[in-house]
Amino acid sequence: MAAVSLLVREGASVAATDLKPREELGEAGPLLEKLGVPFARQNDAVFRDRDLIVLSPDVPADLPPLEEARERGTKVIGEVELAAPYLKGRTIGITGSNGKTTTTSLVGHILKEAGVAVQVGGNIGTPVTAMVDASRADGWNVLELSSFQLETIEQFRADIGLALNVTQNHLDRHHTFEQYAAAKGHLFETMRAGDLAVLNANDPVCVGYAERTAARVEWFGSGARASALPPAFSRRAAQKGGGSPEGLPHGAFLCDGELILHGQRLMAAADIPIRGQHNVENVLAASIAAAGAGVRHESIAAAVRTFRAVEHRLEFVRNLGGVDFYNDSKATSVDATLKAVDAFPGNLWVILGGKDKGLDYGALREPLAAKARAALLIGAAAPKIAGQLAGAVRLIDAKTMDQAVALAFAEARPGDTVLLAPACASFDQFRSFEHRGEVFKQLVGKLGTGD
Ligand code: ADP
Repeated sequence: MAAVSLLVREGASVAATDLKPREELGEAGPLLEKLGVPFARQNDAVFRDRDLIVLSPDVPADLPPLEEARERGTKVIGEVELAAPYLKGRTIGITGSNGKTTTTSLVGHILKEAGVAVQVGGNIGTPVTAMVDASRADGWNVLELSSFQLETIEQFRADIGLALNVTQNHLDRHHTFEQYAAAKGHLFETMRAGDLAVLNANDPVCVGYAERTAARVEWFGSGARASALPPAFSRRAAQKGGGSPEGLPHGAFLCDGELILHGQRLMAAADIPIRGQHNVENVLAASIAAAGAGVRHESIAAAVRTFRAVEHRLEFVRNLGGVDFYNDSKATSVDATLKAVDAFPGNLWVILGGKDKGLDYGALREPLAAKARAALLIGAAAPKIAGQLAGAVRLIDAKTMDQAVALAFAEARPGDTVLLAPACASFDQFRSFEHRGEVFKQLVGKLGTGD
């Protein structure tokens, strides 16, 4: 709808289509009517005789009628590409399989705290076409970009492009891992000399992006010293970005518990308020981007210290009677739950379960055996999880979130942590992962009030 509004305002003759009928489009139906934009349910004819087709990120770009339209010479683009010529100021584009929202919010926070004019959007919150009006020639646009949004870019260009990691994801849409990785890689292909590409030194796909960009490359990595980096990486690092006096490639690295940015100490990893090794990587990457936008070391470090986790992502909720409560409702996969468990030293009460996504929970056996006092099982996936974790950790059949919170708090001792990191989708008992996290926080908020 943001794209429709922009096009109408720019004087285009616009028509809208969807697989659903107008009545099922929520607010979009009345808004289209107000804008005078005709609507037709999707059929092959709606794409004929158009100069331009703009796709919502959910629409696969390779639908047959879209391929046919391309063959007829019609341009098919996404909303980010549409915004590109209208967006004023400079842009930081952030992509990756995991950590986009956290890193985008963090970069926005650092720039804001440093007094830079900045707006944050894209795949989080505000669509890029809706950021056009507020964009300023002297400001920065910090954008979270998904593979779907990057699939169709040609003109869109980031002054600073950042890739956190590329792992198996969305294969239903992109068909193969190579196509998925290539879609994200477009971000670096449209960049020019003088732009800055920020890439994960320990991720082979990100290392590959360095070959496909005209931009200068800076690297980030946790736990990697130059000597530990693969030879191909060191060679590329030397070619693309040069090195720092300590022998590390140019960029930001974790060395002996300290974050080093451009060869200088930035801060201690222990001072990062968001938990987990993955968040150290997010901070390293965000620091390079912020420095690229002109923010100094001291200001970056100060802003990182005041950053709070994005809601539902290992979010600290409260301490009650010496027991910490953390909400990681966004942990909807076994992988994310592993990261969450890894972020704590032990004494955990982990709430698991929800709608099963066909995952194997066996990978949780060892970490839970080492760190959890118990796993509290809720939702439809509970029997499957119980079967796969039996014998590894004490299992409590809590069934619902309110019982899980109450049972965990009843048994937890001072120094323990109650962690919601369910490894499942939420749709059996909740509307969304956000709703699940809200309910958890409300229940935790009421503990101890006798309510
Ligand atoms: P995204 O927007 O890409 O989904 P989020 O910032 O919302 O990413 O984080 C989602 C989950 O991904 C987190 O709960 C955490 O488990 C995992 N994660 C975050 N950052 C990283 C990272 N740098 N590397 C690997 N996993 C990460």
